[in-house]
Parts: sequence; structure tokens; C-alpha cells
Amino acid sequence: METVNEHWMSGVIAADIAMASHASARSLDARRQRRLNQLVTATIAGSGFYRDQYDRHRFRGIDASLTVEQQLQRLPIVRKADLMRSFGSWVTDPQIKLEDLHAFLGDCAQIAEPFLGRYMVWESSGSSGEPGIFVQDAAAMAVQDGLEALRRPALRPLQRMLDPWHLTERIAFVGATTGHFAGMVSVARLKRLLPAIADRVFEISFLQPTPMLLAELEAAAPTIITTYPSAAVLLAEEKLAGRLKLDPQEIQTGGEALTPAMRRFVSEAFCCPVSSSYGASEFLSMAYECRFGQLHLNSDWAILESVDASGNVLPVGERGSNSLLTNLANFRQPLIRYELGDRILQRAKACGCGSGLPVIEVDGRSDDTLYLGSRAATAVLPLALSTVIEEAAGLFDFQLQQKGPCELLLLSRLSAQQEGGALGRASSALTAFLLAQGVDELRIECRCGIPFQRGRSGKIKRVIKQEPQPA
Ligand SMILES: [Zn+2]
Repeated sequence: METVNEHWMSGVIAADIAMASHASARSLDARRQRRLNQLVTATIAGSGFYRDQYDRHRFRGIDASLTVEQQLQRLPIVRKADLMRSFGSWVTDPQIKLEDLHAFLGDCAQIAEPFLGRYMVWESSGSSGEPGIFVQDAAAMAVQDGLEALRRPALRPLQRMLDPWHLTERIAFVGATTGHFAGMVSVARLKRLLPAIADRVFEISFLQPTPMLLAELEAAAPTIITTYPSAAVLLAEEKLAGRLKLDPQEIQTGGEALTPAMRRFVSEAFCCPVSSSYGASEFLSMAYECRFGQLHLNSDWAILESVDASGNVLPVGERGSNSLLTNLANFRQPLIRYELGDRILQRAKACGCGSGLPVIEVDGRSDDTLYLGSRAATAVLPLALSTVIEEAAGLFDFQLQQKGPCELLLLSRLSAQQEGGALGRASSALTAFLLAQGVDELRIECRCGIPFQRGRSGKIKRVIKQEPQPA
């Protein structure tokens, strides 16, 4: 996968990312405009799916006199379900075939191996109701690597000056380790690219019973833990309860919203700094946290438009009900005005850190951690529950509501005919999983054809804890 030419290309991309990190808004805009024009032109040439969409919208190609915003608003919005259904005509390399990808993703031995000898592949969990498969070529990966390496918070600046390549660190990734998910692919790929640190990078599954997870983590003795905010909170609780003996130097989180209260709790429990980042399977490093604790959008490579429920673009400073992503790095599987599902707000005011990259706020996913069993003593992470339901039953459109210490209600919006036994399979898998976690008593009721309850943000949560009953 790594050839001389690709290393050369990575160097050029990294140099541009380093330069753009300190560029003015105008210079960032010029980069965005040039890249968008190239992407749209290449997409029209290579993707039958987009060609059809654009024909239907009577879009005849780039008009170089327009701004990026004007250009985008002439283009239709695309959605994951439609793209996945038309996979073969979406991708611009006809050798990328969906059935081959399914076979590849079905084999865990292939995690972070190059697909067709030249693509990195990962799948998304179905957090917005449907799983996706994402394919990146060397150029797209060089952009992700550059953003990851050059735009990240220096939680321990002195340590990074002494050890910029993390050669003395022990890094533990706590997450879903049994599938081709983006986090796991990134860790496995890091080990392959940097064999010098491979024996100090640990993948630890959060699907195992908590005591086993803690034991594995203690044995790894990481200096850096990288995980989801909800998992970091669980580890902090175990640390405070005296069941986890571990002194990491920093904790990096991503994939869910990290609230200020969660950050404080985790940071105080471990006496170390905690960082947050924003990314998705569709674009791994969308935003990074600066030293002022603000999320800066990597706007030279990712465009996010905040839109209302009808898809109208909102002015800067207004929080939308959805957002549209345009990924300027991936030409093989183009994402142009792709409905991402997250609610974002772009701040009008520049950040005190001096960066020209816009500051955003994200209402990310925020499912609940459940405390289950007769003494409500077993904490279970929402992402672990979702992973079990998705993997065991292939059920992606579900909601799990806690109704009591030992009572769960599993809902699907599918009709009794459509669900085809998926709820029953999910219920059996959940029961087996939760008993293994140490939950002593459990009842799961399943219902289909039921609309979902919405959270306070208006977003549909997939895992909802029991609200305290009014006295
Ligand atoms: Zn800043």
C-alpha cells in the first residue's frame, strides 16, 4: 500500500495542513473553493449516482465565479440510505464492489489490511438507523493522518516536545474491537505503520464484563487512554470506587458528546487532562480541540452546513436540526452535501487562540449508560448495548428504554412482518450479554411498529435510562 509516490504525496499534504493551520480565513476559503471544484468535476465524471442526481437538478457543472456557499446550494442533498442502495454507481472506481466489501468486512483478520491492495475500509455502526461502508484511498488517508498528527490538543506540551512520536507512551484503545469500525481500524493501522510502538498499543474490548476489562486495562498500564466519553466516565467511576488501579497521563475521547460535567468528573478521578474531538466514519477528524477548549472545524478539508428541517442553510450562529458534510479529501466515494445527522452551530466570533478555522459546537450523540440488576449495580455502556444488538440481530433501527432496575423495553419501528425475528434475536443476545456482565435479574419486553421517544435535544436516542420517578 505504501509506495514511494504515496509517501511523497503524504509529505505535500502534511505541509499544506501545517501551513493552513495558521492561514487566514481568505486563504482557507481559496483552498476550499479549489478542492470543491476539483471534487465536483471528478464526481460528475466518475459517479453515475451523482450524475443522475445532478441531471435531475439541472446542474451543469461548476461555475468558477461563485463562492463555495453559492456553489453548494445549487447541489442536491444526498442521504446514506440512497447512497448505500446505489453503492456500485456511487463509487468512482468500478473495481470497488459491495459484495467483495461485505466478504472483506466479514473477516476480522482483514482489519486495517488494504482492500484491493490500495484502500482502507471501515464500517459505521448504525447510529443514524443504517450502517455504512467507507472506502479511502491513499490521498484521503494522508489527509486524515495529517489532520490527526498536526491538529490535536497538546495535553502535555512538554512531554510532546520530548517525545513527539509517542515512542515512550503506552496507548490503550477501549472500544468495539471485533469489527471493522473506524476506531479499531485506526489503531490496527497505526500498529502496522509503526512497528516500533506496536507492542505498546492495546485494543481492549468494552463488550467484556467490567471486571475483565479492568484487569486487562491494568495489565496494559497505559499512559494514554483513547475511548468514548461514556466509557471514560465508567472507568472514572471504577477508579473512584477503588476497583481500577491505573494512573494514565491523558485521556482522549471522541465519538460521542463530552459534556463539561463529564470532562470534570473524568479529569478529577484520574488527575489528568481529558480531550475531546469530533469525527465520524464519514470524516474521521472533522474538528479538534484547541488550547482554549474550543472545537475548530478542519474547514480546509471538511465543509459542514448547518440546515433546518427542510434542508435550508442557516446563517452562522444558528443551530440547525441537521448538518450536511462535504468531504473534500475522498474522491473515490464522494460525499457532497451528505446528511450527517448531527446538530451543529458555527460560532460567528473568532477564537482567542488565533486560528482562522471556524469554531463549532456539536450536539453529538448522547445515549445513556444504564445501571442494571436488582441493586442497579452493573453499569453498561450504551455503545456496548448497540453493538450487541446490531451484530447479533442485524437490527439497526431500534430504541432500548430502561423501565425499571431489571426491566428493558426494546422497540423497533419496523412492522411485525418486516422485523423477521430480529427483535427476538436481539433480546436473546442482550440477555446472554447482560448476564455475562453480572446483571442478576432481567426482563426484556419487545415491541415492533412503535414510534421512538425523542430526547430533549430533539434527537432520537437509542439507549435511554430510566428517569427518576416524581415523588
Ligand atoms: Zn481556538
